Amino acid sequence: PLLLLPTGEQQIVVACRIRPMTEEEILQGGTIIAHKVADDNMVVLLDPEEDHDDVLRANRSRERKYVFDVVSDARADQQEVYSSTAKMLLGSVLEGYNATVFAYGATGAGKTYTMLGTENNPGVMYRTLHDLFVEIKKFTGKREYQVSMSYLEIYNELIRDLLATSSSSSSSFLELREDAKGTIQVAGLSEVVAKTPEEVMEMLHKGNRARTQEPTKANKTSSRSHAVLQVNIKQRDVTRSHTEQVRFAKLYMIDLAGSERAAQTQNTGRRMMEGAHINRSLLALGNCINALSEKGTTKYVNYRDSKLTRILKDSLGGNSRTVMIAHISPASVHFEESRNTLNYADRAKYI
Ligand code: ADP
Ligand code: MG
Repeated sequence: PLLLLPTGEQQIVVACRIRPMTEEEILQGGTIIAHKVADDNMVVLLDPEEDHDDVLRANRSRERKYVFDVVSDARADQQEVYSSTAKMLLGSVLEGYNATVFAYGATGAGKTYTMLGTENNPGVMYRTLHDLFVEIKKFTGKREYQVSMSYLEIYNELIRDLLATSSSSSSSFLELREDAKGTIQVAGLSEVVAKTPEEVMEMLHKGNRARTQEPTKANKTSSRSHAVLQVNIKQRDVTRSHTEQVRFAKLYMIDLAGSERAAQTQNTGRRMMEGAHINRSLLALGNCINALSEKGTTKYVNYRDSKLTRILKDSLGGNSRTVMIAHISPASVHFEESRNTLNYADRAKYI
């Protein structure tokens, strides 16, 4: 049966997280230019280049203001960020709706900290699965759930399995297949049944160590790959034996590659080409989100332009819910990146 998204549930929620200044940024003498307005979901970004006198003469403002659904700053901890973002998807995922959480932003802006976090202070991926197990327990005797996970990387438009064991082919690339119903599958991707949050945590960290990390001029551990955690939730009603109904939902949690432009890292050759590919996936994602945000029934969303958007085809738009968490540094040295990120997130708002 066709499921309709419950009314009153916003199809896309856009959040912004401003991380604390890093020691390096403080040592560089950077000033804080991105602020959350107290008790408001507004970000104020100051242009550090704009001369005060120029601003007065041209009657312009040094400030740019952005309003999102949720804004958190350096004072917000991991639990607070999770509670105000991904947590809101649990209810609909348990009912059988697909959902996606993205971490967007430049390298170093805090995406991996939000999604993976540290062993002592885990992020959204762990907290979501933890609460999913808690919620599932409440259905004991009424519904049976099975949760399995896959974890893949898209690097240079090539797909790698981050959970592949050494005996399977961890170094080869996986292909996308489309079945007769138009459903996209990643052929040969490992699917691991997860039972406890501890198992999940271990898998996530193991998978993350398998991500492609290469030094660039912008950041030593800059990640040019998209890390895609896919959680499959299979649900069976055990009270009605005759009309047994099975439902599937997919929850994607994605640590996107850095959104900074390839040119900004002054890289050439191979790295530059990698940059172009990353832009292709992020551009395709942006185009899809923009198309979905258009009003009317005849909107055309082109998912075919990148591996990322093909994988997400049935988990973006339609009856799916999306949470985008845009990440920025508060430091003046990152003004351009922060402005680009806030503009991108601003365009995603109007679905
Ligand atoms: P990205 O994945 O976007 O490249 P990271 O998550 O690796 O960025 O963050 C860059 C650095 O900033 C890391 O050292 C990380 O631990 C730190 N960091 C990011 N966000 C926070 C935060 N909210 N609180 C404390 N430290 C953070
Ligand atoms: Mg990262």
